[in-house]
Amino acid sequence: MDGYNVAMPQDIRMRVAQIVPSTEAEGPGKRFAIWFQGCPLRCPGCCNPEFLSFRGGEDKSLSEVVEAMTSQVDIEGITLLGGEPFAHADVAAALALSAKRHGLSVMAFSGYLLEDLRLKPDATAALLAQIDILVDGPYERELPDRKRRWIGSTNQRIHFLTNRYRADDPCWNRSNTLEIRVDSQSIRINGFPALQAIGLWKGWKRPVPAEGS
Ligand code: SF4
Repeated sequence: MDGYNVAMPQDIRMRVAQIVPSTEAEGPGKRFAIWFQGCPLRCPGCCNPEFLSFRGGEDKSLSEVVEAMTSQVDIEGITLLGGEPFAHADVAAALALSAKRHGLSVMAFSGYLLEDLRLKPDATAALLAQIDILVDGPYERELPDRKRRWIGSTNQRIHFLTNRYRADDPCWNRSNTLEIRVDSQSIRINGFPALQAIGLWKGWKRPVPAEGS
């Protein structure tokens, strides 16, 4: 875009709440999904309350995240979530630009409306310029979306900002997806669960068995 240089040193830092290197629960195809740590909004019933503080998460360099992203051979794109990606617009724009340069598509979820984002400063515009699909608007707990795959509540809108994806693709009309990953330390869940399961994807730590048990 004009007037804003999105090129950034590879050692620029970001606060990362979570990365799922390859998921089918956060947009079309297989995607590298990254949740930024920190959100200034407070949607009632926020599904990721532990991602709201700007002080949690892990500190990572852009180059670390780009390396993790480009080491995935089976993905068609990346998805930016939060937290609020536009509260990290500088580094999110740099990551999105890197994704585009590697032939990947970019999808983002934001609690802000597109009209409001278009009024914000340069870094936000630089990030918007890289996004193929924007899902906008605050998550509304009382309006769960049971028809549009990957979308949390019925008030949220899907904007196709480029022609890479289409609104009439049947992939949008399937029911939501939940993924569960289990390892020796934790169970991690991403995607949109049934209402009664909200809260499950909090990185529940498996209790460590007592010695000798
Ligand atoms: S924008 Fe997302 S992370 Fe922020 S309060 Fe709303 S639901 Fe939670």
